Amino acid sequence: MGVLIGQLIGALIITFALTRLVKWALGKKVDANTKAFLAFTIVVLFALGLASHTMGFWEAFLTYVPALLIWLLMDLIRARNMNCPFCGEIIKRKAILCKHCGKEISTSGISSSHTENKI
Ligand SMILES: [Zn+2]
Repeated sequence: MGVLIGQLIGALIITFALTRLVKWALGKKVDANTKAFLAFTIVVLFALGLASHTMGFWEAFLTYVPALLIWLLMDLIRARNMNCPFCGEIIKRKAILCKHCGKEISTSGISSSHTENKI
């Protein structure tokens, strides 16, 4: 049992490092969701390919896939949120107004689309 926990913690650390590496390699042009899924897929294949030689496929699967799912989930949660540029609180990436300070978040320059054609 102690061996298994040690193995899981090892897997968490290894997969964390590998997913960071893949996401860094993908650069900033890929959006955060795609990056999270790509990193997950690449590291799953890599870890299973490598570890199934030493511990067998199913043990490798049960060790690395749960660890990677944790990082995937955390990445997806992080991808949905951002920090408000005005007050620094965490808000949804799609937000137009900050729910904490009420300031308008300009999303890629389309904030000045107020129609002033009132007659
Ligand atoms: Zn704010």
